[in-house]
Amino acid sequence: MAIFARDLSVRSYRNFERYDLALDEGVTVLVGRNAQGKTNLVEALQLLTAGQSFRKPSPAELVQTGEEGCSLSLRLEGDGRVLDHELVVASARRSFRRNGKKCTASGVRGALPSVLFCPDDLDMVKRSASVRRGALDSFGMQMSERYAQLVSAYERTVEQRNNLLKERFCTRDLLAAWNESIASTGASLLVHRLALLARIRAHFVRAYASIAPHEVADMAYQPSIGDLEHAGAATSADEAARAALRLEAQERFLACLEERADEELRRGLTLSGPHRDEILLTVDGRDARHFASQGQQRSLVLAWKVAEVEVTRDILGRPPLLLLDDVMSELDAHRREAFLGFIAGEVQTVITTTNLGYFSDEILSRAKVVRVGDGD
Ligand code: ATP
Ligand code: MG
Repeated sequence: MAIFARDLSVRSYRNFERYDLALDEGVTVLVGRNAQGKTNLVEALQLLTAGQSFRKPSPAELVQTGEEGCSLSLRLEGDGRVLDHELVVASARRSFRRNGKKCTASGVRGALPSVLFCPDDLDMVKRSASVRRGALDSFGMQMSERYAQLVSAYERTVEQRNNLLKERFCTRDLLAAWNESIASTGASLLVHRLALLARIRAHFVRAYASIAPHEVADMAYQPSIGDLEHAGAATSADEAARAALRLEAQERFLACLEERADEELRRGLTLSGPHRDEILLTVDGRDARHFASQGQQRSLVLAWKVAEVEVTRDILGRPPLLLLDDVMSELDAHRREAFLGFIAGEVQTVITTTNLGYFSDEILSRAKVVRVGDGD
């Protein structure tokens, strides 16, 4: 059964002194001129569902200029229960609450995952692999707490190992003491990423084909430790097969660390592992980073987002909250239609726009349209 975001309230948050928004179970369109706070509202929804925002703000940035602190709350309903998520910033520190009880970001993550599509996402195709890895991990963290734990444990280990590598006293022997732990966490994260990417890929290929029927898009995960013989086992239901893959990854990772230790010491950096992996996107077999046209880049990102919605359904058995910030102007009429056709499905959606002209009468007749700011 679906869970819906119902009521958003913000106080002293960004450009809003106070703002209350009741969301529709279907489509809510936020319309307004530039700089009225539409993206800020989308960001608030993302913070209260994913526990983080695409802008990666410091706590102080969320607080309205001149104010001491801010609060954001979102009521969720469904499955016969009510959930209240809150984010409070006080003394430049942020804290989350779930049903009034203090928690970390993980406490608000997972109940209603959100999939955001905004103009910055076009960076996913042409920019460095870190953008694609970040997109995969942000989504994975909402799909499973184990995935989230692995991401933060691995990031911490890499940071600590890099700090050690930068020390003048660091030797190969000292490094070796760290290698077991980074290889073990890294191998687990790698297996989780392979499994999630395989799920996304299936929907991604299909979604792209429906947007651009004469082209074939694909994605592949390329580990910096080299391709793994048992990579296919990542999606296996057989725990022993996954354990064998984890072991293969761990051993390969250890061998890479050993092999490149001198170079790592010279450069003060950990040079292999999931933080150096690539996610390759292709159109008709050609690397999208170098060959995709503007339109193909948009289709690739669109297909990736559609896939995230479908994978959420597969894994959790219910759809996510879809947040579309200002993307209608980025899409041509054909892609807009394909996408609007898609959101006609059972997905709660919040769309921002400066111009209602992008929407068909059919969509507008069943959407809730909310004017943000001073209108014209
Ligand atoms: P556009 O249509 O151009 O995308 P928008 O409606 O999405 O506009 P937002 O990005 O949400 O606009 O920003 C609205 C305003 O909020 C901006 O003018 C920005 O300067 C302001 N703003 C952001 N953070 C704060 C803050 N902490 N205090 C006060 N104002 C802020
Ligand atoms: Mg905006």
